[in-house]
Amino acid sequence: MPALDRGAGIGAEVIQVFTQSPRTWKPQLYADEILSSYREAQRTHPSVRATYCHASYLINLATSDPLLLERSVDCLSANAAVASAIGASGIILHVGSHKGAGIDSCLDQIAQALSKTIEVATCPLLLENTAGGGGSVGRDFDELARIIDRVGVGPEHIGICLDTQHLWASGTSYATFETTQAALAALGACVNLDRLQCIHFNDSKTALGSNHDRHENLGEGSIGSDALAIFIGHPSLQQVPAILEVPGDGKGPRFEDVAIARRLHAKGRKAWSEHRKDLA
Ligand SMILES: [Zn+2]
Repeated sequence: MPALDRGAGIGAEVIQVFTQSPRTWKPQLYADEILSSYREAQRTHPSVRATYCHASYLINLATSDPLLLERSVDCLSANAAVASAIGASGIILHVGSHKGAGIDSCLDQIAQALSKTIEVATCPLLLENTAGGGGSVGRDFDELARIIDRVGVGPEHIGICLDTQHLWASGTSYATFETTQAALAALGACVNLDRLQCIHFNDSKTALGSNHDRHENLGEGSIGSDALAIFIGHPSLQQVPAILEVPGDGKGPRFEDVAIARRLHAKGRKAWSEHRKDLA
């Protein structure tokens, strides 16, 4: 399986795939044998432990356009069905944009769309936090929590994927132990942390609070190595898989990017254990 081979080749234990072109509507159709052979290859893979899927970027469950909403629900259902069939651990999606109309204008339709998708999914739908631009839904934890509450199902059906670049761009800093602690406490106050099932671990091309979704290689952006290490080393995140969505040299994460992520993780864990000793 090329995706698994590529992941193993860069030293990854967890990978993320698109199961169709992320910028078109046309669903990619797969023969049952292809889906089941992926599932088997994933289940028995010696080093890649999990595959996550990312739904199409075109999906907008917050739109006021009924036709776009219908296409979005169909596309999400198709993506979720493929994710389930390949044995993915979750399908990550951007909820969409209400273009300034406000979350109250679209909360019910989002919840209905997600409920409908859950019927065809055997893996959880993971709602991703956004950088906060253009009326995007999920700019803060409260919006995600309101959607999850409205759907009213457990973490085996709906959870959160937290993107470090989006979090930074949305205006939440985690440059210190205290601000990281505060950010995760804010998340924990909105949703139980068992909902947090995946992290997108990226640096940012744009500044804190910029509201722009622009990923950078780890340590090369405005977040920087120290803050990324403190974040990823936080004790309550140690069971959450992290996925890189960094540009690399233009073709996505490389072996060295995974190595940097591991170094930051080790550095952050050490920093937290020393910090806790200082506090004790
Ligand atoms: Zn992301």
